[in-house]
Amino acid sequence: MPELPEVQTVLDTLALRIKDRAITDIRILYEPIVSCSEKRFKQSLIGQHFRTFKRRGKYLLFEMDDLTLVSHLRMEGKYFILDGDAPIGKHDHVIFDLDDGKQLRYNDVRKFGRMELIEKDGDYENFKDLGPEPFSDSFDREYCKEYLKNKKMPIKSVLLDQSFVAGIGNIYADEILFAMKIDPRSRADLLNEEEIDTMIRETRRILKEAIRAGGTTIRSYTSSLGVTGLFQLDLMVHTVKNCPVCASEIQKTVVGGRGTYYCPICQKRKKQKRIAITGTIGSGKSEAARYLREKGYPVFDCDAENRDLLEKGNAGYEAVKDAFPGCFADGQLDKKALSALVFNDPSQKKKLESIMHPLILERLNERKEELLFAEVPLLFEAKWDRYFDQNLLVVTDRKILLERLKDRGMSRSESLRRLKKQMPVSEKKKRADKIIYNNGSLQQLHDSLEEWLKEVRC
Ligand SMILES: [Zn+2]
Repeated sequence: MPELPEVQTVLDTLALRIKDRAITDIRILYEPIVSCSEKRFKQSLIGQHFRTFKRRGKYLLFEMDDLTLVSHLRMEGKYFILDGDAPIGKHDHVIFDLDDGKQLRYNDVRKFGRMELIEKDGDYENFKDLGPEPFSDSFDREYCKEYLKNKKMPIKSVLLDQSFVAGIGNIYADEILFAMKIDPRSRADLLNEEEIDTMIRETRRILKEAIRAGGTTIRSYTSSLGVTGLFQLDLMVHTVKNCPVCASEIQKTVVGGRGTYYCPICQKRKKQKRIAITGTIGSGKSEAARYLREKGYPVFDCDAENRDLLEKGNAGYEAVKDAFPGCFADGQLDKKALSALVFNDPSQKKKLESIMHPLILERLNERKEELLFAEVPLLFEAKWDRYFDQNLLVVTDRKILLERLKDRGMSRSESLRRLKKQMPVSEKKKRADKIIYNNGSLQQLHDSLEEWLKEVRC
């Protein structure tokens, strides 16, 4: 079945060949291809010129002088441009005579293709169900995140759903997922932000390359070969025997009724749901994490991992030794000196983070629990929300927060100084998937967490 790049290729080729040509006569040899009556089809189109060539999803839009002809190739529709006296083929169903003596012929072995007339610039009923174009700005992270939120079906089925994004078919869905290193059967709602960004980027890259490959093919077309839109793109996984990356045997399975190819080594099956818990100091995020642990849930503690990585002999210790030699005395890491250094100097802080964050992420990625929570104090500041499927923000009103910190023995000025170092709560709220307010008793916080867990587990 032609996909977006093929449709674009067909359109570009026709634009080169028949732009501004007028239709002088029409013959319909198989009526169901045309949605209106033959009489109306002919009356509306004869005398009209092919002016502009547009595409929406896999629909071809021929804008004529007074109206638009919409064509969908479905399974095997093709256009041929032939001399008027060329013998009529068995599968030529609609023949347009052009004012240069040539003919535009619609050929369709399966007869599934359709043609319809709509008003110029008019709304076409079928476009209402089409998602954004992959190259448009509206196909962005926010849109995908919102769309995928509660989709429990395989990600491949979502990519094929034209209401999610227009134009992707079976071949390119396999190629996009291979590039994303995601198993096609993975649950769509488990993609995190980083994976969504990769999906958008790879979708555009692969389609663009395919269109470019099609463009190369157009130039090599001579004349009567016709425009099938079929061309050779170097496929990485679809119908490939061995993975071009790891040489493993490519597996074939069926997803949503469609033949699906994937590499069992390179493509990860997403089963895990990762949820980050964050807040400000004293907001109750640690209590939330403690409560979840008590209830038997696995909780990854970023601060604890950070401390452990800095223990002598561990990866962080060794890396910091090379980067911050001034923080070592008698061959030992002076943690207080390191903290003081980065607390007062943003560039040093950045340098330390660029060492520690990848190491912590590596440890996070080693965790394979199907449902994993993580306490990440600076989740949004470090842009770590992209590594999680969801996040929870625990918020305490400022007045109550300052009281609590005072009870912990922190001075008001110190509390304010620390809070000021973080992203404002109003900004954090904008980035949060779920907010729990912790202004009352511990029991109330636990009750809110239990309520939230019901959503999380389903
Ligand atoms: Zn592989």
